[in-house]
Amino acid sequence: MRESLQSKKRIVVKIGTSSLIYPNGNINLSGIDELAFVLTDLQNQGKEIILVSSGAIGVGMNKLNVKERPREIPEQQAVAAVGQSELMTIYNQRFQTYSQQTAQLLLTRDIIEFPQSRQNVCNTLEQLIAMGIIPIINENDTVAVDELDHLTKFGDNDQLSAIVAELIAADLLIMLSDIDGFYSANPLTDKTAQLYDEIREITPALLAQATGKGSPYGTGGMTSKLKAAQRILASNSQMILANGKQPKMIFEILAGNQLGTYFYRLEEEHA
Ligand code: ADP
Repeated sequence: MRESLQSKKRIVVKIGTSSLIYPNGNINLSGIDELAFVLTDLQNQGKEIILVSSGAIGVGMNKLNVKERPREIPEQQAVAAVGQSELMTIYNQRFQTYSQQTAQLLLTRDIIEFPQSRQNVCNTLEQLIAMGIIPIINENDTVAVDELDHLTKFGDNDQLSAIVAELIAADLLIMLSDIDGFYSANPLTDKTAQLYDEIREITPALLAQATGKGSPYGTGGMTSKLKAAQRILASNSQMILANGKQPKMIFEILAGNQLGTYFYRLEEEHA
């Protein structure tokens, strides 16, 4: 049933902070290294990979030895500014081990609102892809306040990854979180929760089963992941929500193995 995943060429991978930072606040170097290895190998196979990465605040807190997430927005932005540059240093080091060139793109919401901005971003992404470079994308935290103060959920990296996937007509969005997929309830609080193998339509009943973030580093929680899936389905693309603990399982996902929750359109037929 998931055989068609093998042929997906243009793939956006989104990784959450919880997969990049250990619960004690330190950086998960082996996870980042494995991610760099997997994404480079996929690129070498001829796929076109785009990475959307959270983690700027978490890495910044680690770098500055800040134990608690700052409350004030300017402080959050300062920590994110330190963390973003450090995160890119770590990514660049790891990707260089595998001789893979990367690029950093920091985006704001105007990519949806202003056609010229959208076009510029598309052009840049298409050019990078054509040059065999893996773009690493994050929201521009200095400008995008909604993402940081969490007053509105719109603007988090789950939405950003779906928007990027839509912009460049990606075949697949692989969303890596700290959980194996979408469950009938939050498994942290409900031990009877069952994992969905596939979801073909985002219904109000499903949205009611999603709650907020799971870890101190989490952002939008499952609600924002379902909204991202909604956007993906509306643009006729597909999404897999899976656990980012071991990025090598991206190989298994793309081989068609039954991992994570697979979101695809109701009317789509599978070869
Ligand atoms: P990330 O840092 O990967 O973006 P989040 O913390 O924002 O992760 O979201 C993942 C968390 O959402 C899970 O750890 C889980 O506790 C919570 N969650 C809430 N409802 C559900 C659900 N129905 N199925 C799975 N996880 C859920």
